[in-house]
Amino acid sequence: MSGSTLPRHPGGRARRGGRLLVAQSAARTAGALSRHLRGGSGTVISGRVLQALAPRGVAALAADRAVTLVSGTNGKTSITALTVAALDDGRSVGSNRDGANTAAGIAGTLLGDARELVLEVDEGWLPWAIRETAPHTVVLANLSRDQLTRHHEVGALASTWRSALAGVPRVVANADDPAVVWSALAARRQVWVAAGARWTADSQVCPACGGRCLAGGSGWGCESCDLRRPTPDWWLEEDLLRGPGARVPVALDLPGHVNVSNAALALATARVTDGVDLDAAAARLRDVHAVSGRYLRTRFRGHDLRILLAKNPAGWLELLDLMSGDRHPVVLLFNADGIDGRDPSWLYDVSFAPLRGRTVVVSGKRAADLLVRLELDGVEARRLRGSLAAVLWELPAGRVDVIGNYTAFQAALKEVRRG
Ligand SMILES: [Zn+2]
Repeated sequence: MSGSTLPRHPGGRARRGGRLLVAQSAARTAGALSRHLRGGSGTVISGRVLQALAPRGVAALAADRAVTLVSGTNGKTSITALTVAALDDGRSVGSNRDGANTAAGIAGTLLGDARELVLEVDEGWLPWAIRETAPHTVVLANLSRDQLTRHHEVGALASTWRSALAGVPRVVANADDPAVVWSALAARRQVWVAAGARWTADSQVCPACGGRCLAGGSGWGCESCDLRRPTPDWWLEEDLLRGPGARVPVALDLPGHVNVSNAALALATARVTDGVDLDAAAARLRDVHAVSGRYLRTRFRGHDLRILLAKNPAGWLELLDLMSGDRHPVVLLFNADGIDGRDPSWLYDVSFAPLRGRTVVVSGKRAADLLVRLELDGVEARRLRGSLAAVLWELPAGRVDVIGNYTAFQAALKEVRRG
């Protein structure tokens, strides 16, 4: 008797379904318990339980849903939040709003009921997420060096993206980033958005052939092979987004041109995936005031604070650009714990010269590293110790920008929210 004629166990499918139901129920209970005991969203805990009890649970839960994935070194949290806002014309769009962007966070988010999902994915987890969730669209923002102990090898990451994207129905990708373009070309269809690239140190080597990638008047191109900037389908003229038959002003509450670029990717994605009314979608983006606490403006201990996150060289460049022209004091909080990475030598990849002449205070566990870096750039700064409240005590009342790398930013946010 051949294997194919063996009778299938009549309860096989039902038992698998039953196992998933039990896993879902246990995972939801664990998430609720974690929320109750430890605060937070409980998403990661519930995701871990789901994966432990039903290893194929993510694929099963994603199977009949419309999934868009968003990845890139910088901006993915903002692009995800803006895409959800652009799509949200009254329908329910699920998302990992708390930024839990690895396997457990994605698994936990899939425990929700939304049929349509926009999921932020860590760059290293993108191949896994594509395999498990079978997205109809993947949005790719940029690829640059992150903290040194994380995804530092841009070329290797671009290669794994390219393999993972083969067969994906559609990408919405940044035409200004060579590594993104080369990866995106593996997908079945590309929608190109000229979303800009402030950080170019990682795009001078052609990801396809290793030749020199040169920037020119009309974009970039490789000296040795055919890889060059594709003609964008969507582009910005100042704050006006242009696309096929579209012309829509982008006015945001979030600061900086970097967020206008993020909005361009979000609006293009919402348009091509769901045909949303662009004017209405663009209007909804104005209601996004902060993204997981980033850009939060709040009154705290006599100061008008703006809280900003910068976790890698490209992130610092964006923020230094965003703050150019401001003269009020800046507090820089710098740690090297856990997700920050332990080696802060990437600080030397960024020029802090734009901060010259401003009142600059540094704090955090690795403030000494930052102080040395600032001195080399001719930025006068002093070090203060203690909580954010203690640091602010030393500054005159009024506006202050607080910039932290990952764990320092989280600690500052927690302190401010406690009041
Ligand atoms: Zn090349």
